[in-house]
Amino acid sequence: MKKIVILGSTGSIGTQTLEVVNAYPEDFCAVALAAGKNVTLMEEQIRANKPKYAVMYDEKAAGDLKQRVSDLPVKVLSGMDGLITIATLEEADVVLTAVVGMIGIRPTIAAIEAGKDIALANKETLVCAGHIIMPLVRSKQVSLLPVDSEHSAIFQSLQGNPKKRMKRILLTASGGPFRGYKKEQLTAVTPEDALKHPNWTMGRKITIDSATMVNKGLEVMEAGWLFDAKPSQITVVVHPQSVIHSMVEYEDGAVIGQLGTPDMKLPIQYALTYPDRFPMEGNKLDLFALSSLTFEEPDPEVFTGLKLAYEAFLAGGSVPTVYNAANEKAVALFLDRKIGFTDIPGLIETAMKAHKRIESPDVDQILAAEQECYEIIEEWMGRRS
Ligand code: NDP
Repeated sequence: MKKIVILGSTGSIGTQTLEVVNAYPEDFCAVALAAGKNVTLMEEQIRANKPKYAVMYDEKAAGDLKQRVSDLPVKVLSGMDGLITIATLEEADVVLTAVVGMIGIRPTIAAIEAGKDIALANKETLVCAGHIIMPLVRSKQVSLLPVDSEHSAIFQSLQGNPKKRMKRILLTASGGPFRGYKKEQLTAVTPEDALKHPNWTMGRKITIDSATMVNKGLEVMEAGWLFDAKPSQITVVVHPQSVIHSMVEYEDGAVIGQLGTPDMKLPIQYALTYPDRFPMEGNKLDLFALSSLTFEEPDPEVFTGLKLAYEAFLAGGSVPTVYNAANEKAVALFLDRKIGFTDIPGLIETAMKAHKRIESPDVDQILAAEQECYEIIEEWMGRRS
């Protein structure tokens, strides 16, 4: 029985993880769940899954939850201390990190230090703190298994092959709802337009990130850390059908990829069963029903967020943190209708230009860089109004 801690259980990845866990009650059990504020769903999840611990990051939400579940033996905790307590639980085997944003960094580090295996969905953690996480993973000899579908596909394509013979990663992208748009067309885009992803149903932030292709930029950096690849070894390939989830090209010219229907449950389940593969319900890939598989190069002049990600990755140090933090803030402002769609990459660029790079930031410096970046954007907003 694998005992799993789910950070971000009420989100898109978190709820799908619970579906996977519930499909195999003899193999998996959710010992602890954590979320931000969504008390109603957390209460439902506690009643259905009977975890020993539940964390609401928000103090008030934790107080509310305590009252709602006072008839159950679950222990309710709050804040960063609560997240770290469950990430390091003695009895836990795997911590699945599916919170959104940089809040995932500290609990992930704590979990690795405590010797827990990690199933990683929260890409912001590696983008900002890959230089801390990866050496720690090696020294503690824990597994860090990717949940992101593209990274899971790359990981699967590397099985049984010598990593040193990997020539490059072909990271696929659906292109999002604005594939083929010209730069001018993007200025009029609304949050409603951007929230309509053609193939995947995901949380709001990552859906906007897919529309700007910043998500692909974050994935380029995540792949760089996970598979020890240089920026020049990662090629983004727009593949609108989202059937090939990514590929690896080897030195002999062989290209190996993983195909499937767009369903996050597969990479989630694989991260929990690796190296085994359990059966899974749901639609399976029907090759005869596919009319074609197509591939395009992304346009870096339209999707400037992707171009900036390569620049941030090459610069390294604290610059990827600034890229990520500026994007988080800009996406929130866009969803609040305070800025336009094309201001998102614009603000990332402004923040990257204003930042004084730190070579190898520790967690405090990463969080300080995030804060500084928010202040730069607030100043920019103030000048605009
Ligand atoms: P959602 O927005 O759907 O869910 C986010 C989760 O994080 C919720 O459970 C939320 O709780 C919780 N949360 C937010 N803030 C805090 C906090 N301060 N402390 C504890 N929990 C918190 O996001 P997704 O599931 O879409 O994405 C999660 C991560 O996985 C992201 O990093 C994303 O990039 C990555 N990812 C997502 C994919 C997808 O298909 N969705 C695919 C690949 C990667 P509450 O509900 O209470 O706000």
